[in-house]
Amino acid sequence: TYIVNDSCIACKYTDCVEVCPVDCFYEGENMLVIHPDECIDCGVCEPECPADAIRPDTEPDMEKWVEFNRKYSLEW
Ligand code: SF4
Repeated sequence: TYIVNDSCIACKYTDCVEVCPVDCFYEGENMLVIHPDECIDCGVCEPECPADAIRPDTEPDMEKWVEFNRKYSLEW
């Protein structure tokens, strides 16, 4: 699963949304988020992000961001 972090805030450059084959990006309050259960881990969005805000959840200390992405992809 790929996850959006706070480097996205105030960016909302949407090239990532356009390339996602399963449309699992959602618009949060001030940033985009990825629904962690819908993401198929294809990785095509990651190089599209100019803010380097899309990271795999296998990186350290990502639990907080996984939950954040899940919460906002459902609420907004
Ligand atoms: Fe969509 Fe693939 Fe990015 Fe997951 S890794 S959000 S499926 S483009």
